[in-house]
Amino acid sequence: MAVTRRTSRDIRSESRLDVLHALLAAGEASRGDLAAETGLSNATVATVVSDLLEGGIVTEARRTGGRIGRPTTTLRLNGNRGRIVGVDVAETYVRATVFDSALDELASAEVATDEHHDEYDYVIDGIVRALDASLENAHADRDDVLGVGISLPGGMQRWTEVSVVVPNAPWLHVDRLRERIGLPMVVDNPLKAIATAELWFGAGRRHKSMITVNLGTGVGAGIVLEGTILRGAQNGAGEWGHSLLALDGRGCRCGRKGCVEAYVGAAGIQQTLAAIAPEHPLASVPMQREFIGALAAALEPPAHPALTETLELTARYLGSAIADLCAIVNPEMITLTGWTAWALGDHLIPAVRRRVLEEAPGDSAADLAIEVSTVRGNSVATGIATIALERFLGDVGLVTTRVPTAI
Ligand SMILES: [Zn+2]
Repeated sequence: MAVTRRTSRDIRSESRLDVLHALLAAGEASRGDLAAETGLSNATVATVVSDLLEGGIVTEARRTGGRIGRPTTTLRLNGNRGRIVGVDVAETYVRATVFDSALDELASAEVATDEHHDEYDYVIDGIVRALDASLENAHADRDDVLGVGISLPGGMQRWTEVSVVVPNAPWLHVDRLRERIGLPMVVDNPLKAIATAELWFGAGRRHKSMITVNLGTGVGAGIVLEGTILRGAQNGAGEWGHSLLALDGRGCRCGRKGCVEAYVGAAGIQQTLAAIAPEHPLASVPMQREFIGALAAALEPPAHPALTETLELTARYLGSAIADLCAIVNPEMITLTGWTAWALGDHLIPAVRRRVLEEAPGDSAADLAIEVSTVRGNSVATGIATIALERFLGDVGLVTTRVPTAI
C-alpha cells in the first residue's frame, strides 16, 4: 500500500475522533475538560464540538455554575441520534446487539447455528434473523438504524474454506449479505473488532501501541500500532494463534503443527491436562466452555496437582508466545480478553508476566503491563458496532474512518 500523506482534513478528522473518545470515556465533559484530556487547543476543541453539535452527534447536557459565576455547558454523546447494531457471527451462534448512538447497549438477540452447516445462505439467514430479533427487542425501527457492523471470522478460521469471505469470491457473498440486510453495513473480522473495543472502551484510550490477546476456542491478537489498528494487505494481521510455538508440535485445526492456538486455545489447555493426567475427570468434559469454567473453579486451593501443573504449563506457553509478540510489536500494554481470559486470566497473569520478562528481547518488556481487559460482555459486538459508528461518522463527513472502504 502506498504511503499516504496526512492532510489537514485527516488531522481535523483525528481531532474529532480524539474528542469523541474523550467524551465517551468521561460520559459528560466541558470543552475545557476535553481540551485537557486530548491535549488539543481550546480553539480546536471549540471547532470540533461545533461540527459535532451540528451533526447531532453530541448534545449539550447541562449548565453548571463556574467558579467565577459563568455558566459552563457540558457535553455528551447524543444517544438519540439513532441506533447501531453489532453482529458477532461465531461458529455456533449469531448474536446481534443494538446500541444507541452513544454506544450504550439496549438489547440483543441470539440465534443458535449449527457449526456443521455453514453454507453462506444459511449463515446469512442466521444474521438476518438475529438482526431482526434484536431490533424488535430494542423496540427500534429499521429507519432508526445508522449502521450495522458484522464481524465475520476470517483468516485461518475454518469458515474461510466454505463460507462468506472465501478469498477468491468475497464480493458475491458480501453483496448478497448487503442486499439481505438492506441497511448501511460494514464487515470486519473479530480481531479488528476487539482491538476497536479496546481503543474506545479499554486500555487503548491510554496507550498508543497495545495488543489485545483473545483466548477462547480460537486464539488471535488485535494489534494497535502507534494508534492505528494493524490490518495488513488482506486485513489478515493478528492471526498470531497460528504462528509457531513448537516445531512439529501438536496438530492445529488449521492443518499446521505446533501453532500457539494448539497450546493455549481452550482445546489445547484440555489437551495439556489430558497429557498430564488422562484419568482426571476434567480431561473428558465435552464442551470447551464448560471445561474452562470447571478448571477455573477447581483451581481454588487446594487444587489437584495435575490442574496446577496444567495452569503452569499453559502460562509458560502463553508467556513464550507473548514474548514473540513483544519482539515484533514492542507494545506498551497487553490485555487478555475472551471467555478463557475472563475465567483463568487472574490465575495465569503472574506466571505469564515472569515468562515474558525472561524471554522478550532486551528490555522490551521491562515496562510492559499485562492485564485482563476491562472491556467485558461481548467485546466483538461492541467493537464491530463501534466500527459501524465510525463508518457512519465518516459517511456524514464527520471523521475519516479507519475502516477500509472496499468492504
Ligand atoms: Zn493453526
